[in-house]
Amino acid sequence: MENAEKTTEDKMFWADRIASELDAGKKQVVGDAKTPSGRIHVGSLRGVVIHDILFKAIKDAGKNVEFVYRFDDFDPMDGFPKGLDESFKRYMGMPLCDIPSPEKGAESFARFYADEFIEVFEHLGCKPRVHWSSEYYRAGKMNDLIRTALERAVEIKEINERVSGTKKKGDWLPINVVCEKCGQIGGTVASDFDGETVSYECKDTKYSKGCGHKGRISPLNGRAKLTWKVDWAAIWKSLGVTVEGAGKDHYAAGGSHAVATEISTKIFNYPTPYDVPYEHFLFGGKKMSSSKGLGVSLKEMDELLPPEILRFIMTRYKPRTAIDFSPDGDTIIKLYSDYDSFAEASFGRRESRDPDEKRIFELSQTTEDNRLTPKDYYRPNFGLLAYLIQVPYIKVEEVMAKRKGCALSPMEKIELDKRIASARLWLERYADDEQKLVIVPHAEAVKAFAGFTAKQESVLHEFASFLEQHDAEEEQWNKIRELTATGGVSLKEFFELCYTLLVGRKKGPKLLPFINALEKSFVVGRLKGVH
Ligand SMILES: [Zn+2]
Repeated sequence: MENAEKTTEDKMFWADRIASELDAGKKQVVGDAKTPSGRIHVGSLRGVVIHDILFKAIKDAGKNVEFVYRFDDFDPMDGFPKGLDESFKRYMGMPLCDIPSPEKGAESFARFYADEFIEVFEHLGCKPRVHWSSEYYRAGKMNDLIRTALERAVEIKEINERVSGTKKKGDWLPINVVCEKCGQIGGTVASDFDGETVSYECKDTKYSKGCGHKGRISPLNGRAKLTWKVDWAAIWKSLGVTVEGAGKDHYAAGGSHAVATEISTKIFNYPTPYDVPYEHFLFGGKKMSSSKGLGVSLKEMDELLPPEILRFIMTRYKPRTAIDFSPDGDTIIKLYSDYDSFAEASFGRRESRDPDEKRIFELSQTTEDNRLTPKDYYRPNFGLLAYLIQVPYIKVEEVMAKRKGCALSPMEKIELDKRIASARLWLERYADDEQKLVIVPHAEAVKAFAGFTAKQESVLHEFASFLEQHDAEEEQWNKIRELTATGGVSLKEFFELCYTLLVGRKKGPKLLPFINALEKSFVVGRLKGVH
């Protein structure tokens, strides 16, 4: 339909649209999960943030909702994390919850990595109820579902074959027992459910060596775990999950989500949760990954960016948009400037280009107080301050107060300090040489000036004299335009001359804010070629 009117729903922010479609009469449970099998990557934050946005949108729609984040810590160690001590090789195939922590302080391998991740997502304002699958199994809360899955193993096998084309052996059961002899769960193969117990054998896998033990055991109360697609479907029912997305890889035809969906509806008689497939979030980009080997870690990221800025990277894009973010080049400067621009639109000082801007700004806030009543205050330009902190004598707070028009409020000072800390780290770790800045020594500037043409000297001289008398950037800017239009020096050339005298190259920070942050007599002298 050409020129069709957009419906109200099309105009809604994606999460609000989903929230509006959910049944108000029943409790909504937003679910998400992660296997803590090693250091969790920054990219994994996207799933948490998407689900947190959904949770908040449903709450804002006045519906009863809970957000549960599951750590699948009962899964086996089936890959060996880079950099982990070789002594951990002996734990391959064991449940992650039964492997010791690689560093002191955590009660298990799984908890160690999960805790690191929880700390960061809580910084970002995501506060789900955390669920540990090992505890859940051990408390017997999966017992009924295990029984159902074992009784209907033939049908589950048929679903696997039909939907995903995976063939299982005739007596296959959708369960992995924890071997009583060696503690592994990865390679145990179970069969022959007699209504109470299963028989099992501890075998080799691609990644682990089984001990060969054969036994018979009750699979209840944490002595066994459902195989993962069956486990996925079972936990939906057990926790009453009604909304759950996953990375788009799970949604391939015949993929894991399709299998879990069939099992959920046909075996457990439970409707599949509302589906939200999402694209990947690559943090560090190709350039960073190849140069540093591992990309940027969760901790580094958490240190580099204030939580609302990090959250904003994910909040601003719809789930189906792939994000490939790299902290080098001018990406971070642009990120801050976009965030500030969304703030401007949100507080009505700029016309919105997109109706979602206000909502995105709100949902980027990391405390409920800021989200429900976003705070309007002066946000110092990150690009400018990143340059200014490199000039030793500049008092950044004074410059920013001058730009604002009055002294900074306590909240604005906090914001400034946050941004200065972020800028320092950025300059130290990620910024290119282009963003690094040194004021040219006197002799070098004089030498450069000596090489300028008479026309160039005259335009610079005239501008310097004007600058002495005029503080307003707009007037200064008009003067530059006037001089370059008539003085035989192009605008580009004029900028290059100024940068050459100040920072010794042809490019630099935004010229007028930079000039006005420096000592005026110094700038005037430089442009006149005297010091
Ligand atoms: Zn064993």
